[in-house]
Amino acid sequence: MSATEPASWQRALREQFPIVTAHPDVAYLDSAATAQKPQPVLDAVMAYLTSENANAARGTYPWANRTTARVEQARDRVRAFLADPAPERSGVHFVSGATEGLRAVARDWLAPQLRDGDEIVVPFADHNANIAPWQEAAAVARAGGARVTLRAMPYDSAHDYDAARLAELVTPRTRMIAATHVHHVYGNDMHLARLRAAAGPEVPICLDAAQSVGHMPVSVADLDVDFLVFSGHKAMALPGTGVIWAGNRRGPAYVPAGWQGTPNTSGIVSLAAALDWLDAAGPDRIARWTRDLGARLTAGLSGLDAYQVLGCQDSLAAGSAVQRRQGIVTFRHRAIGSNDLGFILAADGLLVRADGHCQGEHGEETASVRVSLHVYNTAQEIDRLLARLAELNSA
Ligand code: PLP
Repeated sequence: MSATEPASWQRALREQFPIVTAHPDVAYLDSAATAQKPQPVLDAVMAYLTSENANAARGTYPWANRTTARVEQARDRVRAFLADPAPERSGVHFVSGATEGLRAVARDWLAPQLRDGDEIVVPFADHNANIAPWQEAAAVARAGGARVTLRAMPYDSAHDYDAARLAELVTPRTRMIAATHVHHVYGNDMHLARLRAAAGPEVPICLDAAQSVGHMPVSVADLDVDFLVFSGHKAMALPGTGVIWAGNRRGPAYVPAGWQGTPNTSGIVSLAAALDWLDAAGPDRIARWTRDLGARLTAGLSGLDAYQVLGCQDSLAAGSAVQRRQGIVTFRHRAIGSNDLGFILAADGLLVRADGHCQGEHGEETASVRVSLHVYNTAQEIDRLLARLAELNSA
């Protein structure tokens, strides 16, 4: 199915987003920052808060018991959504987002194991949330007298991980490889099978799946990683939700450190409802839809000489990378600054992200305009954006 064809299934899904239908003049093109919420997710939260809101894992009355059960059911829901092949052995921990999740894995699981001479491979051109936690873990180890080295994840010219160079980098002292599933600026679906092959069978991999879960099928059985962290709010749950899936077979079990306070119960309820909704909508269909829209935008931009699309230009030209690009397209105008372009587009109801996107290392110019798509977006919205960009082409 191409995004250019009218699709009744997509219209039916789009109509379930009240914020989208209430603002017909707005095109929300920033789903990589956070996704909009469908009505069934909002209904689930309202039903919970107005029927049996209570604290979890404390209290003896029915509402409290049922809240505890909902949290446990949500863990099972996450395992099922991620096609966990060994659910009885893997932990699911609720956190506030991907940033907190990655930080917790680095701080609670990795840092206490680090010894003098150990190494961590860090993807310095990915999101800061997948860089700073590993730097922090190394700093904690160093403060305790252990010299821990951070090795830079090598990239190829298509912004994918360079498996051959990674294989040379991995040593018996590599204690963790931090990686990202889908890049939040370039949109590429990283070749994780190559990554595991290069890493060898023993090294733990922690995967930042903030831009893949909710946007495409994600199976921990296929990925062969030890930790997978994602943002619930980017997967249509409420803000303040995130998940650590810890199915690690290459080290001690993951246990969150310290006291556990009241969990975000309504957020967890929203996450279970969001995963139900996404499963019914079909992650595969969502991925195809957003990829097609992204390809439509990329093709349109290629006819406008003022714009440069970031990432894998060579392979884009050859057509090979398009299939591996999810619905994220990032670009710059040769004369208009990206922040200004963001304001200009917003004035027309075209809501894009325009800044440095929390990327660790990038090119000389940091700001760019990112368009990130979800199932509620349409070809008409892309054409509207392209029409406005075309007006600015000669600026
Ligand atoms: N990792 C990636 C790839 C992201 O795109 C983001 C958010 O933009 C994060 C991590 C941080 O996610 P959160 O906002 O849930 O902490």
